[in-house]
Amino acid sequence: MIVKNFIEQRIQKIQSQLFELLTTETPYTFEQFIVNLSIEMEEVADAHFSAIYFLDEWKGHFRLYSETSPGHPFLRNHFSLDDLIHPDSDSLSSKEVEHIIRSGDTTMDLSITSLGSGKKIFGFLVLGFDQLPSFGEGLFKVLSDELTKCIKKVEGLYSTLEEKKKYELLYKVTSQFHSSIDTDGVLNEVIETLRKVYPDFQYYLLLSQDYTTDKDLPVRELAYDMDPSSKASIQAYMKGEIQIEDRLQEKQSYLYAPLKGKQGIYGVLQVVAPSYLYFPRKDIEFFLLIANTAGNALENAQLYQQSRKLNDDLQLINSTSQKLNSNIRLTEKISFMAFKIEQSFHAHEVGFLTWNEEQPDYYVLEGSSSFFTSKQCTSLVKQLEKMVEDQDEALFIGDFKNEMTEEYSPFRSVMAVPMTDHEHINGLAIVLHKEPYFFTFESFKLLQSLVHHSTLAFANSMLREKLEKAVITDYLTKLHSRIHLDECVEKHIEDSQEGHLILFDIDDFKLVNDTYGHQIGDEVICQVADVIKDNIEGVGIAARWGGEELAVFLPLISAEEAHELAERMRKKVVVNTHPSVTVSCGLASWNILKSMPDRKQIVQRADQALYKAKNSGKNKLVVAEEYRNSF
Ligand code: GH3
Ligand code: MG
Ligand code: MG
Repeated sequence: MIVKNFIEQRIQKIQSQLFELLTTETPYTFEQFIVNLSIEMEEVADAHFSAIYFLDEWKGHFRLYSETSPGHPFLRNHFSLDDLIHPDSDSLSSKEVEHIIRSGDTTMDLSITSLGSGKKIFGFLVLGFDQLPSFGEGLFKVLSDELTKCIKKVEGLYSTLEEKKKYELLYKVTSQFHSSIDTDGVLNEVIETLRKVYPDFQYYLLLSQDYTTDKDLPVRELAYDMDPSSKASIQAYMKGEIQIEDRLQEKQSYLYAPLKGKQGIYGVLQVVAPSYLYFPRKDIEFFLLIANTAGNALENAQLYQQSRKLNDDLQLINSTSQKLNSNIRLTEKISFMAFKIEQSFHAHEVGFLTWNEEQPDYYVLEGSSSFFTSKQCTSLVKQLEKMVEDQDEALFIGDFKNEMTEEYSPFRSVMAVPMTDHEHINGLAIVLHKEPYFFTFESFKLLQSLVHHSTLAFANSMLREKLEKAVITDYLTKLHSRIHLDECVEKHIEDSQEGHLILFDIDDFKLVNDTYGHQIGDEVICQVADVIKDNIEGVGIAARWGGEELAVFLPLISAEEAHELAERMRKKVVVNTHPSVTVSCGLASWNILKSMPDRKQIVQRADQALYKAKNSGKNKLVVAEEYRNSF
């Protein structure tokens, strides 16, 4: 009866403690509460000491959680669940437990009662006596039941509180993550949250890429080597699964949670715990969630950077394309591209070279940077040209020092992209930097795309400039074309006082053709052209007027000088042509002081003078009459 009352009293005390706990605003921690319970148990049973073991779900063993006599030599720190439960038995034999808990010989009696029931046993209450009390079994059973109820309630309460706190923090992290692309900020918040929730642990972010940060973040590089100490971290990274590792010597437990985003894994969260602590399942879930948050933040940052880069690249291609397709000269296009590439790639030198069937040796296109206009570039360019030809693809050289066959080159990073447009251009764009491994592979790809875009524009300009030249030059005599001479006269009339036009026509040229053939005829035309070219250098412009007619425009000399010059040329033609031919000439001069000049009138007058020369025996110079028009 006394015993029963005593037990009831004790139970009441336990219950009132529980009530107090439930009603206090800042109650003890769960650990403190369990320690208090152990003390109560010791008192209730009048034992020497009491200890409580709890099941560590993750590790699958029972761990000594609290004891009233710390470091008691009779108690093991933990024992395995497998050691206890027989696969075919539902209950545990306390004899077996006692055997396991006891370490070494002892004269002390132990009472061991399970907490929970059947297979759902979550712990043990251990009481130590000199001798087991007579009321034994009955008391222990009641104690175990009460303790089980109490612990369950308290645990429920604590875990709810704890979960609430944790998830509030997690919510804060994720909402920050959704509202910003500041990876540093998110990672910092992740670490801060972890430190708040589990202050006893240390945390590291093992990242797979070089991560630079201003913040004081515990970032470490993820080691890929086969160092056994990094095996678990690599497993977590490769498999994307959580890994736990106990390092007995270091007395520490390590947890590795992959930093997972939607598209990949960006690193690993390393949690270091003193080995007496354990990672319960719900904590592991929390680590996984928070590691995913970090993974998503890293992924977002990476995607954001990639998209910005892509955007920048597109803008570069777009702005260059616009300029390249505008109506500017080739030299301007080349120097624009060289400048853009220098700017975007932080290159030291940018050059564009080309060659074609007429000029198989490369030549540097005007507009390339200064190194390419120096003689120094020759050996480097020759080697690159050969390498591109041999390999038949663009070159991306991290350190040219290893490739150099010719003389020393001050440039270590080299990119060389062929410019090919099947019809019109064959060339090479070369980008150089003095530091080795300076250019990224992305910039190489971008350069290829830029060169590809610009090649066609270069080819167009080249073709156009070639045509322009062809138009102002006569293909046979290499004199100017008639259009060009007309334009020159027109322009000159507008802003100068006087000028002269001579028209030449080879006499009896049909006979030359008939006698010697057309080819000789052509040669004779060229010989006449050469006589003219040699005599007017510096004072006039000569053109092929058509057929075997040639013209000279003299803007700088007087009428007398023009007359003398025409005569001189007429006489020289006879001796400088083979077969020898003569020419008839018509000279028309104008002076705005005498009459208002008009190009058509001038041509007409020269033509009429020539006609007169033909009709008066050929091999003559006739000066056109002065044109008079009324002002
Ligand atoms: P004239 O003294 O009256 O000028 O007699 P001509 O024989 O020179 O007569 P005309 O000037 O009327 O004829 C020019 C001839 O020159 C006609 C054409 O066959 C020939 N001819 C015109 N262009 C070329 C050319 O590019 N090459 C050659 N070989 N012959 C040409
Ligand atoms: Mg003629
Ligand atoms: Mg003629």
